[in-house]
Amino acid sequence: MTNEQSNTNKLEFIQQLENGWLRVKVPLPFSLKYVNAYLIPEPEGGCTVIDPGLHTPEAVEAWESVLQSLGITFSDIARIVLTHQHPDHYGLAGLFQQRSGAPVWISRASQRYAERMWGVDRSLADRLVEVFRLHGMPADLRDGIKDNLESFVPMVSPYPAVSYMEAGEPFRFGGIDWTTIEAHGHAEGQILFYDEASRIMICGDQVMPDITPNVSVVPGEREDPLEAFLISLEQLSKLDVSLALPGHRDPIIDFTGRCEALIAHHARRLDKMVAFIQEQPESSVTGFAMCELLFSGRITLNMHNLRFAMAETLAHLVRLEKQGRVALLEQNGQYIYRAK
Ligand SMILES: [Zn+2]
Repeated sequence: MTNEQSNTNKLEFIQQLENGWLRVKVPLPFSLKYVNAYLIPEPEGGCTVIDPGLHTPEAVEAWESVLQSLGITFSDIARIVLTHQHPDHYGLAGLFQQRSGAPVWISRASQRYAERMWGVDRSLADRLVEVFRLHGMPADLRDGIKDNLESFVPMVSPYPAVSYMEAGEPFRFGGIDWTTIEAHGHAEGQILFYDEASRIMICGDQVMPDITPNVSVVPGEREDPLEAFLISLEQLSKLDVSLALPGHRDPIIDFTGRCEALIAHHARRLDKMVAFIQEQPESSVTGFAMCELLFSGRITLNMHNLRFAMAETLAHLVRLEKQGRVALLEQNGQYIYRAK
């Protein structure tokens, strides 16, 4: 991108919200296109940054352009708050910390996951592709997924030195003492921020408009993440929210309605999967075959999308098994699911 283009385009990265906060659309090299960061002014001066984005040259350029246009420097950043550990939210935190000297706040569970994914041992990637093997994914695709995970290391580097916030304890920024809510299912340890007085919710990736948040089986994390996700949505849907600020896409006005729609979506998805299994020979299917049935064979052309699709398919199959609607069987060293 030339300088001239980046100048004319910089406004497309910024949306001013009614309360004066800024939503910054930080570009991403995936089909999601961008992640929402939020710049929240502090009453005593400076600002808080929520979820700075993924560390790519395009994202850094977008931020530099945005900050310059707003007359903000990195030294104005008082703190960086991460809703969760996924790279598109976490990746730039270390660079922002280097440039600003600001603390980076995250939950302990989120940081533990980040260390397993990109820390010294990086054990999670091996365990994940082993799970995919057991559920029928061919070797070449598993290699592709391993490479794809490895490719994230520079996009989450440098790693931030983190400070811990814990769900249930109030957390202050933007002149508000936020209620912190641990939201399970999408990313263990994810924290949402809710203010009853203004009815604002910063909802990370737990609730998004238009798209359904990914719910994945992750080895060593919660066994039945979809159950936890649905329970979380049920609880969140009862809160009085007039504006929810998600990690992707536009702000949500009807937060309760969106929570209910997501719950209904997963109920339909579970029913559809049972019907798919019943149509198969011997009413049985591997996790990988189910993934291709749900997302079409084209999903295997993109390793990033395949990883999410496969882990999400497994999350649904685990839920179906827990519901007693399918049985998990071992056959020749691989797992298959059979309709009951
Ligand atoms: Zn996420």
